[in-house]
This record gives sequence, structure tokens and C-alpha cells, in this order.
Amino acid sequence: MTKTSGTLPPRWRPTAVRWPDSRPLLVWNQADPTGGESCSPLVLGDEVSFAVDRDRRCVGVWQGNRRLPCAERARLDPWALGALCPRCARVKDSLTAADQLGDATPHRLFLIHHGDAAIALAVTPAERAHQTVLEAGVLASLALYEGTASAVRHTADILRSALRLPDRVRAPLRRAARARPGDAYQRADDLVAARQVALHHWRQFSTPLPKSTPVDHAETYRLPDQGLRPDAELSPLMDTAAVSGRLVCVVGTDLYLENVQRGLVLVDGRRMFGWGMRTALSSLGFTAATRPVADRVAMPPEVPGRLAHRQPG
Ligand SMILES: [Zn+2]
Repeated sequence: MTKTSGTLPPRWRPTAVRWPDSRPLLVWNQADPTGGESCSPLVLGDEVSFAVDRDRRCVGVWQGNRRLPCAERARLDPWALGALCPRCARVKDSLTAADQLGDATPHRLFLIHHGDAAIALAVTPAERAHQTVLEAGVLASLALYEGTASAVRHTADILRSALRLPDRVRAPLRRAARARPGDAYQRADDLVAARQVALHHWRQFSTPLPKSTPVDHAETYRLPDQGLRPDAELSPLMDTAAVSGRLVCVVGTDLYLENVQRGLVLVDGRRMFGWGMRTALSSLGFTAATRPVADRVAMPPEVPGRLAHRQPG
């Protein structure tokens, strides 16, 4: 998207935002159902400009170095959050589950900080743990334990129940927390305190990692301590819609663009995935619809909040 060499070749579809080497990349698939993959860096401070065509389709599933095309070349709804149709999503889930069946891949358990939305637990393959944490938009993290997938998940289940941590933290809550993220010292204190509570509930069958240090990610995202308060968020894209602005922050798969007319606009990157798209160095304008940012007050009270009980009870 921010390729500096000019426009991307036609007929590519974005499929993911990834964070290798602590830098965000937009991943593209060729529109040809069996075509290859490419990526372009999302450079903070750069002008971003893209327009979608009339065609949003499932991109199929990657199995190793091979792309399994979508059998139906399914059209995707503008509201879909990703580049896969339901059938291909099930294929991907089954492939992921099969990969993990052998339990041979080391996994890691983290305490993760989503600002004042919640502290929660995350299980990731150890090999790409840091990348996964960034892709999830976690503000800070603390490694608790490493072991086989089943042992790590079992430990996570015990701690989640004992500490009354949420299974998941919904995106609107995580985004609202970015308006007042606080600073890295506060987050580190919260995680160390949560670790103390977790150790109180630890079971003998596993051994926690030796005292580990909280890792803060806000600077990596370029999220300022005073937070970001977008003026609007991008509505689901429609045919030929164009978006442009200066990229000021990327958190997980969320892009924050500063546009002269629209102000700070939150772009859920997942709504871009699957669209045939053209990009340009010069502005394509901003014709896409936006809407007020979802208000956390309107969300159902599904998350019990941050770790309120610092002491075991
Ligand atoms: Zn499909």
C-alpha cells in the first residue's frame, strides 16, 4: 500500500497485516486464484492512498508454500472481517489444528495488557510469539510459561478461571482503551502484579518461567501515552471507494490515517482484505463512507474489566 516504487500491479488483493521484525506489512495475494504472495511495508508517517474495485472475493488458504484456491471463488460481503469465505475459514482452522495435533511445537503463555479494557491471557506458538502478540494489538505482555501446546492451554484454563480473566476482549473495547493507554511503567506494574496473583494459583504440574520482564509495545505501534481519539472509523468499503491519509499509527490490524477533511480515521484493516485494489503515491481522494467511532458504553458488559483483584481471594 505504501510501496514507494509506485503503484502495485493490478489485480492484487490484500489479505493480512503481519508484524515480522516488529514492523507492519500489508500482505497481498495475486487475484489469480493460484497466484503468489507479496507484501509491502506500512511505513508510519507515509501517505497512504488506495481505492477498491467492484470485486471482493475469498483468496483461498495457504498450506505451506502452496495456495489452495477457493473452490467457489466466493464473493465476500463488505462487512466480512477477513479474506476468507466460511468454507475456506473452516479449511484453515482444520489445517491449523492438524499442525498443532502433534504437540511438538513449543507454545508460550502470556499475560497481555489491553489498557483499561482488560488484562487477559494469550497462548501462541513460541516460535512466532512476539509477532502474534503484535498482530493482536496487545499494548504490553509478560511471558508466564512455555511448554507443549496442551500443557500451556491447560495452565491457561486454570489461571483464566482462577483470576477471572476474559476469554477474549472485543475489538471495540480494545480500541476504546487506546484513547487513554497510560504509560509503559503503569502497564509493567499491572503485569507484574497480575503475575504475582497468577503464581498464587499455579499448579504443580508445570513450572513458570523464571521472573520475566514485561515488554511494552506502544512505541512499536507509535501509540502516544496520551492516546489516540479518532474522529471517525471507516465504514465497510463499497465499490470504487477510495481512502487516503497519512499513516500515524498501526496497532495490530488497525490503521490510523490522518486526512485533512475527515480528521483521524480508524481503518479496520480486516475490512480491506479480499478487495481487488489499486494504490497510488498521489492521493486518490477520500470517497469512502465513515461513521462515528463505536462507543464502548454501547457494548454489552461481556468483559469483567481489568484485573481488579490484585490479591488472591
Ligand atoms: Zn473460499
